[in-house]
Amino acid sequence: MTTTRVAIIGGGLAGLNAARLLHRAGISFQLFEARDRLGGRILTVDEAGSPAEDGFDLGPSWFWPEMQPALNNLVTELGLPAFAQYSNGDTLFERTARDEPRRLPGMAQQPQSMRLAGGSAAVIRTLASGLPDGALNTGASVTRLRLTDLGVDVTVEKSGQRPERIIFSQVVAAMPPRLLATVIRWDPAPDPAPLDLWHGTPTWMAPHAKFFAVYDRPFWRDAGLSGTAQSMVGPLAEIHDATTASGKAALFGFVGIPAAQRKSIGRNILIRGAVQQLIRMFGPEASLPRATLLKDWADDRLTATSADIATNGHPSASGAEWITGAWAGRLLLAGSETSETDPGYLNGAVEASTRAIQAFCGHASLRVANKLRRL
Ligand SMILES: Cc1cc2nc3c(=O)[nH]c(=O)nc-3n(C[C@H](O)[C@H](O)[C@H](O)COP(=O)(O)OP(=O)(O)OC[C@H]3O[C@@H](n4cnc5c(N)ncnc54)[C@H](O)[C@@H]3O)c2cc1C
Repeated sequence: MTTTRVAIIGGGLAGLNAARLLHRAGISFQLFEARDRLGGRILTVDEAGSPAEDGFDLGPSWFWPEMQPALNNLVTELGLPAFAQYSNGDTLFERTARDEPRRLPGMAQQPQSMRLAGGSAAVIRTLASGLPDGALNTGASVTRLRLTDLGVDVTVEKSGQRPERIIFSQVVAAMPPRLLATVIRWDPAPDPAPLDLWHGTPTWMAPHAKFFAVYDRPFWRDAGLSGTAQSMVGPLAEIHDATTASGKAALFGFVGIPAAQRKSIGRNILIRGAVQQLIRMFGPEASLPRATLLKDWADDRLTATSADIATNGHPSASGAEWITGAWAGRLLLAGSETSETDPGYLNGAVEASTRAIQAFCGHASLRVANKLRRL
């Protein structure tokens, strides 16, 4: 085993995939995750809202295997079962509050959106289970990075404990660049050009909110409805069937009201409005959800910055350098937003973290690097 030590900041999909690749190459690492749970924007919960092994995806739910080889290969390698997003039946369209929602024939999805059985957190759970005990630190925020002759002096803060400082030879930042620019103190400061790039890169879906209504059964299917609906009235703009592979019935919708306005409306009014809308669109059976869930990512300080809340952009691959100057060689960016092929998406998290670890291993393939290290 080499003595090279890597700090990974962030325990979302990108951080855990980086950890998987380092572990496979025999390189020791410590992963620091500020939240008390792993997964980052991947969050699967039960109807009480607690993280669960089989439940509802408050963060990402879909992937597209034909278009997303990096993620598809990972899902296949981990042996995770997937199933197609339910879309059999008619869709609904609500144009004004005065008119009845229109019923339109549904169309087969192309490409087909897929979901992981149990929820998207299945990939997080499976990745974490293959990593060494003691290498995954939750409730551990990285607050400062200082460049020294020996490597990077990383300050880690855990609630109720004195900050700890550890020197690592390499840091892999597996988090949105905007957070990296705003939540960490730098010594020395990163070069202005990359810092501008970090600040200017929107964190995908950070300003959004997802609402779920959980039911005893998927009653809309009996009426020949797919659960897919669009509305220009709101509060939900786009609605889909969120029934789990195990049969727990639910509808979910993306809230169509901007983050600042959501805050002034308040959760209770928003939830009441969403249920009223489901009754309008799907009929009286929608009036009695077993539970409702609302996750507003704009309120989540480990996802959204003030810049994300103010605008709603999609990150794009610019080809610009993420790191220059003193930090080059000591720091790698690996979060989804830094992907060159699919920035912002789950596939991007796998692609960007794979690219970062391959760069760290000196452009050799991980397999070759692994063999060389064992000689
Ligand atoms: C509502 C919603 C719906 C989405 N739907 C889809 C979808 O259907 N399909 C799709 O492909 N993508 C979707 N996405 C995007 C997808 O979730 C992300 O691309 C992916 O999860 C990003 O993974 P990541 O590891 O790069 O970043 P993150 O998941 O954001 O992980 C970064 C981690 O870093 C941690 N962190 C931050 N600061 C620190 C610090 N200082 N110290 C330690 N840890 C820190 C955070 O707590 C977090 O856990 C959706 C996102 C949201 C919010």
